[in-house]
Amino acid sequence: MPELSKIWLSSPHMGGDEQKFVKEAFDTNWIAPLGPNVTFFEKAISDYVNDNVYVAALSSGTGAIHLALEILGVSNGDDVICQTFTFSGSANPIKYLGANPVFVDSEKETWNISPELLEKAIKDGIENGKKPKAIIAVHLYGMPYKVNKIKEVADKYNVPVIEDSAEALGSSVNNLKCGSFGTIGIFSFNGNKIITTSGGGALIAHDEEIKNKAVFLATQAREEAPHYQHNVVGYNYRMSNVLAGIGRGQMLVLDDRVSARRSNYQFYYDNLHSIKEIEFLNEPEGYYSNRWLSCILTPSFEIREKIRLALLEENIESRPLWKPMHLQPVFKDCKSYMDGTSENLFERGLCLPSGSNLEQKDLIRVVNKIKSQFL
Ligand SMILES: *Cc1c(COP(=O)(O)O)cnc(C)c1O
Repeated sequence: MPELSKIWLSSPHMGGDEQKFVKEAFDTNWIAPLGPNVTFFEKAISDYVNDNVYVAALSSGTGAIHLALEILGVSNGDDVICQTFTFSGSANPIKYLGANPVFVDSEKETWNISPELLEKAIKDGIENGKKPKAIIAVHLYGMPYKVNKIKEVADKYNVPVIEDSAEALGSSVNNLKCGSFGTIGIFSFNGNKIITTSGGGALIAHDEEIKNKAVFLATQAREEAPHYQHNVVGYNYRMSNVLAGIGRGQMLVLDDRVSARRSNYQFYYDNLHSIKEIEFLNEPEGYYSNRWLSCILTPSFEIREKIRLALLEENIESRPLWKPMHLQPVFKDCKSYMDGTSENLFERGLCLPSGSNLEQKDLIRVVNKIKSQFL
């Protein structure tokens, strides 16, 4: 029997114009490091997000979070609140600055940071004489967090929000795009994200000064002078002009990519929702998810594993939902505010193949294999 072709969880999907923009960089010798592709890519992102945002293209989403924390004044010994149910890229930059993550659990409607537990964490911090310096809230799998409630709590105690939109380019709430809700927003263009520059990120600011500060820090904090002058510590986090060319091409097809991922989700929903052991996460009213990854919930860890291993046997990649940060050995000593929600999601949840380049026959293979487990 010929080996079944591999179905990936989420793989890069080029649109066709990427090489044209990359070639332009070569033809004009704008290879290193900045150049017109960076400017045009930033403009394309800010036009897409709208809301008069200023965009700094960077080398990664993790780097963007690092710079956001630094710009918000986070330093050694500070507390920073972070959604526990996320990828480590959200939390690691807190440690880069010598600050302490305080992890907060999720609510069940969007799987993202709970407004109630967030308020409790802030109040406790204030009572102990140590108000948290920032909040990192995440639109996990493309589903927006409760943007209004989180903003309300953050504003009440005057704590800035870093909006981790790494997975949510193209998602929105009441027609306002993700990336525009936080004090500072971030995107990722890593290889598995909804669009990719093979590796990259962006910082989204509402005021030009913050963007300029991000660019300054991202280019080794070089002061204006004919010689190399440095008054503060900088980083090498700027996006290269070659990779921004890929990004320009990807922005042209972003809406197609969102539609394709949403159709994947709809296909899984239509074909699997009648199985009583399988649950989906619906969009709350006014919420629009890019459905970066299509996720299902099963009744137990055992059933989740049974499905995952059955898919693996068929050369189909699936993944358990993110393992919460408070359960990770690297963060075991951090403070946390938990009610069991994220641990439960981690045990029972599975991400299904979700790439925008999946074909109907791939989706059918996935669905048939899952169905066969419940006959
Ligand atoms: C991918 C991701 C990041 C990090 O982005 P990189 O570009 O890979 O550094 C941060 N947060 C979340 C939620 C992510 O999914």
